[in-house]
Amino acid sequence: MISVELKGLTKRFSGPRGREFSALDQLDLTVCSGEYLVVVGPSGGGKTTLLRLIAGLETPDIGEVSFWESGRRISLSTAKLSSEIDVAMVFQDSALYPHLTVRGNLELGLKIRRLDPSEMNRRVEELGGACGVGKDWWPRMPSELSGGEKRRVSLARAIVRQPRLLLLDEPLSSLDAPSRTEFRQWLRDLPGRDAMTVIHVTHDQAEAMSLGQRIAVLNKGRLQQIGTPRQVYEMPANLFVAGFIGDSPMNIVAGKFLISECGTPWFTAIPGNGGFKVPTPVPMPAGWGLAHPGGSGLSSNVLLGFRPESAVRLKAVEAGKHDLSGRVDSIDYLGAEIVARIDIQGVPLFVRWPSRREEMTVGETLRFRIEWSGVSWFDDKTGERLNRDHGSFDQP
Ligand code: ATP
Repeated sequence: MISVELKGLTKRFSGPRGREFSALDQLDLTVCSGEYLVVVGPSGGGKTTLLRLIAGLETPDIGEVSFWESGRRISLSTAKLSSEIDVAMVFQDSALYPHLTVRGNLELGLKIRRLDPSEMNRRVEELGGACGVGKDWWPRMPSELSGGEKRRVSLARAIVRQPRLLLLDEPLSSLDAPSRTEFRQWLRDLPGRDAMTVIHVTHDQAEAMSLGQRIAVLNKGRLQQIGTPRQVYEMPANLFVAGFIGDSPMNIVAGKFLISECGTPWFTAIPGNGGFKVPTPVPMPAGWGLAHPGGSGLSSNVLLGFRPESAVRLKAVEAGKHDLSGRVDSIDYLGAEIVARIDIQGVPLFVRWPSRREEMTVGETLRFRIEWSGVSWFDDKTGERLNRDHGSFDQP
């Protein structure tokens, strides 16, 4: 199986008014053999450029792409990339050959590789069928297919080639919601998946979270974070990732750590009517710059991040003096869940709760507690995460 190593990969283009910019900037990344890696990021972040560099369709200005098999580097020219590595790429707007039937489209790449006819028939029948492109599809012309059906045929066309490296550029874009769910399942069960390394790029964080064994978050040509979906969701490396990953972005509250006279650290939010004050009996995040952890009255600016579902709703009788309360400003009913915006002394926060269990109305006062075991702290100047670990945080 193939692994792919990207070292210091930089690609520059000239932008408006001829000014050069880096579509990819010093990217270091290793895609392990047999891995399903999803690269996710906003539009213009450099995802397609990355795939094109890996496929050898672009050359980097700095850095290199190398391919490895069983610990040995495969040396090859760009011209041999497709045949020696068996790389297949499904482009965002992959067009089928309009003058060929579905079967003709599936067979073309195999004919070019001079595959034995019986093996070709087997692959088109078995692998095409496993991709949902059965015999009844074969005589159809591309003009007779819907957008989703064309997408399916272009993916099947890549799969019948039995690539060792599959590059997918936004394979689910422009599909309706039920088709996306079906395709996601189909991508999880790809025929020959065990022998394939897959790099899939998308701007859709939900797609990335559901499909990626690891996900790499790319913004403005720079790698922001790479990790399992859980790592990236629970421990975002910076404010960008905290805002981009997740159906509702992480709540970010600007504030200060204050050390009381008895040495207890407090977090106080800055905006609004003096902010809100909650105790934070947590180990000081490394590198946050509080010079005298034992002193009192000293403070340091930080950003507190917590996911909307990390707010635990309390009944009025349960609420203690360290818990939070605020007025419900707006409610989004999402079916299984409710996302509500709550104003806490001028600080707007989002909470996310199961809709079957929780009822609320706009204007009502809600009480809740933040689950401190899941919070993130960020540097207020660089936006970088301060706590490398969240498991050691204790509940107040
Ligand atoms: P999308 O999700 O919209 O497809 P992307 O993350 O795939 O975006 P790229 O297509 O890689 O982004 O483009 C990254 C940046 O490089 C964009 O600003 C784009 O306009 C620019 N770019 C890409 N190809 C070229 C080119 N051939 N010449 C000039 N600029 C380019």
